[in-house]
Amino acid sequence: MVESGGQDAILVVGSLGFDDIETPFGRANHVLGGSTVYFSAAASLFAPVRVVSVVGTDMPLESFDFLRARGVDLAGLQVAEGKTFHWAGRYDYDMNSRETLATDLNVYADFHPRLPAGYEDSQHVFLANIHPSLQREILGQARRPRLTVMDTMNLWIEQERDALLETMHGVDMVSLNEEEARELSGTSSLVAAARYILSLGPRVVLIKKGENGCVMITPEGYFMAPAYPLEEVYDPTGAGDSFAGGFLGYLAGAPDLSDENLRRAVVYGSAVASFTVERFSVDRLRDLTRAEVDERYAEFRRLTYFEAL
Ligand code: AMP
Repeated sequence: MVESGGQDAILVVGSLGFDDIETPFGRANHVLGGSTVYFSAAASLFAPVRVVSVVGTDMPLESFDFLRARGVDLAGLQVAEGKTFHWAGRYDYDMNSRETLATDLNVYADFHPRLPAGYEDSQHVFLANIHPSLQREILGQARRPRLTVMDTMNLWIEQERDALLETMHGVDMVSLNEEEARELSGTSSLVAAARYILSLGPRVVLIKKGENGCVMITPEGYFMAPAYPLEEVYDPTGAGDSFAGGFLGYLAGAPDLSDENLRRAVVYGSAVASFTVERFSVDRLRDLTRAEVDERYAEFRRLTYFEAL
């Protein structure tokens, strides 16, 4: 169990819920989901994690015992009268895109994130995919964090653009997938899309490309990491959030936010995400160890190494 003050602590705010997932290889109904569960399961392999979220009275709280066992602090988890957030999605053989079949906000509809006492000093903040105004509410409550990262999705790009741009202006880093980057910037080139996003305020943009890996763009340049070559991808749900967990988890313990450490963080994020997709829901993350992640991190080095002439 990892314990400490706010120095290396990571605060996450986002959804917790039930997912129904359909892929060409099977289906999983009413399984644990939501961006926060993936993020926390991944990040807690590296650093202490503090959760702010909401569930309804139908969520058995023992569902989170595996997170508690890793030292995840759930003091910020609200239990509201009503039903828990529910999402249903379907993937075809091209697992890089998915169809959302249902999003039932339920208790999430009236949710306002509140930091419990002791959370304000969290030095690392992950704003998972929720309404950009709620993301901003959290930013307003955290006390001078060292690093703030936000995720988003097409829904907010299409329906809440102004609020989204305002939140982006206040964070250090934006993480989004390639479709979202194109939609947000109105351009097809990811290079141009990243430049546009950097012009909005953040100093790091991370564009996720599913099985094609991801690219990190800073004013200084680019870094590209492949996705780990897996023969079987069972369920890509949560790949993005567990990527963010590995990324921020590594940086929380890193001495500085240099370009070298950001690159290492991208590879740690990719390593954790490659485990997530091996099974449905958070199942692979339940008993994943830091040693397994470190081993895959080393494999990423071998995968991308080449000799100079
Ligand atoms: P990812 O695959 O990393 O984008 O995250 C998948 C998780 O996001 C699923 O477990 C869903 O429950 C959750 N999710 C899907 N849509 C939303 C939404 N509109 N707001 C919050 N969480 C969502």
